[in-house]
Amino acid sequence: MANLTRREFLAGAAVLGAGLTPSAAQASGGRSPAPERSGVLVDTTVCIGCRNCEYACKQAHGLATPPQEAYEDRSVFARMRRPDDTALTVVNRYENPRKPGLPVTVKVQCMHCAQPACVSACIVGALTKAENGAVVWDTDKCIGCRYCMIACPFQIPAFEYHKALQPRIMKCDFCFERRKAGRIPACVEICPMEVMTFGPREELVRIAKDRVRRFPERYVSHVFGEFEVGGTDWLYLSGVDFAALQFPRLGRSPAPGVSESIQHGIFAYFIPPVSLYALLGAVMWIAKHSPESGEEA
Ligand code: SF4
Ligand code: SF4
Ligand code: SF4
Repeated sequence: MANLTRREFLAGAAVLGAGLTPSAAQASGGRSPAPERSGVLVDTTVCIGCRNCEYACKQAHGLATPPQEAYEDRSVFARMRRPDDTALTVVNRYENPRKPGLPVTVKVQCMHCAQPACVSACIVGALTKAENGAVVWDTDKCIGCRYCMIACPFQIPAFEYHKALQPRIMKCDFCFERRKAGRIPACVEICPMEVMTFGPREELVRIAKDRVRRFPERYVSHVFGEFEVGGTDWLYLSGVDFAALQFPRLGRSPAPGVSESIQHGIFAYFIPPVSLYALLGAVMWIAKHSPESGEEA
């Protein structure tokens, strides 16, 4: 192990748990997340804002991208960006209240919540929490209702509004396909500063707390995601209050409250669930098998 960095060592351990499929229990909203699931610890104090992670993510997901050199353009930091259907992760720059002139750059993507509101909002089970930690989306099941977008406390899922036919919900999938092939997430792999550590979530929490304890002058005493909305599998360390980085202030309770409200709203119109699912299923089948869809009936 002498030649392995800590990041690679943790990655190897986590890859052993890769390739797991979404479980039925967790499809219900991830109420029993697997304790051994993987996560990523993002240490914002070492990020240099190079945006290589943006490039690698697009490459890994077959999204259109300019050449890697184009990501050296710092003018993008003039405005705040959010992940969208063309970029599943983006890097933003913030003023540093503790060190003026030394801004903080932060990578943003799906947090892969332990008990994801998006999963519980989805009435057809198109979003699932896999045992390896990834919250993934099934294009065949999705009916484009976009409840997941409303439910997410981090405003992550994006919709391909520009596509008239079969638009998809788009968000970071924790590199589910790469990990099934035994590889670590593309952003983790490419980062020149080892900002991200990929590994078992429980181990990442321990590492994060150890860093905060050993370097109190470097970090605020808060591991974002340890408890927020019931815990997220992506965790963050920071040298400034997370509010200064526009992280939402969230309680410890899981966020399905919003999604349950959505579903209660539907059922308030006295549509029996079985009828609703039959109707939605028919709509979905017709849409997918129409001549324009290119699929055969
Ligand atoms: S690749 Fe690493 S250092 Fe570069 S912006 Fe992304 S997280 Fe920061
Ligand atoms: S951050 Fe949003 S999209 Fe990602 S798992 Fe949590 S609720 Fe779902
Ligand atoms: S884990 Fe994969 S999908 Fe998510 S931000 Fe990183 S590269 Fe993109």
